Amino acid sequence: MRPTIGVLALQGDFAEHLATLDRLGVAAREVRTARDLRSVDGLILPGGESTTIGRLLERFDLVEPIRARVQAGMPVWGTCAGLILLARDVDPETRARHQLVLGLIHAVVRRNAFGSQRESFECDLLVEPLGPPPIRAVFIRAPVVSAIGPTVEVLARLPDGTPVAVRQGNAIGTAFHPELTEDARFHAWFAALVECSSVGAA
Ligand code: GLN
Repeated sequence: MRPTIGVLALQGDFAEHLATLDRLGVAAREVRTARDLRSVDGLILPGGESTTIGRLLERFDLVEPIRARVQAGMPVWGTCAGLILLARDVDPETRARHQLVLGLIHAVVRRNAFGSQRESFECDLLVEPLGPPPIRAVFIRAPVVSAIGPTVEVLARLPDGTPVAVRQGNAIGTAFHPELTEDARFHAWFAALVECSSVGAA
């Protein structure tokens, strides 16, 4: 059976992720309930507003089901707000009063790390598993990773060394939005990871 990638579709730019997966010919579907989650082999948490998505995850009873699936090995990838949700903690200065984190990547993130001057910007970034050429990374009110644990691999850094893409085993987080560019290499890489893990689980 061909694996299916779920895209959490509660708030944020889930449609752009689905469109990119569709362009690649990867089977994908929206995830809104624990039942939807059971039918997917990998999950993308989109960009949006982490506090809103967090509240909706609670309201739709998805927090524990997502944690359990990822802890059991299901690949998960969070972009921007999705990275914040995957982290273990949010820098206290930038943490909202009600800020859910799933704690699936041993990292601390700082929200809206680029301030109002550079709320949104783009740059070329070398992403380790994709190799050259670099990808065009789009940052929108983006977080950065401010601390990582020993089990976390850095996949991409800004020129000043700040980590903006991280991986802890089957959990991946990017501060930028590959779904907003034409370059589908990051999605293709994630789809390959999902394929390997679902073959391993079969
Ligand atoms: N600033 C948003 C947050 O903290 C994330 C922005 C995004 O996902 N593009 O949730």
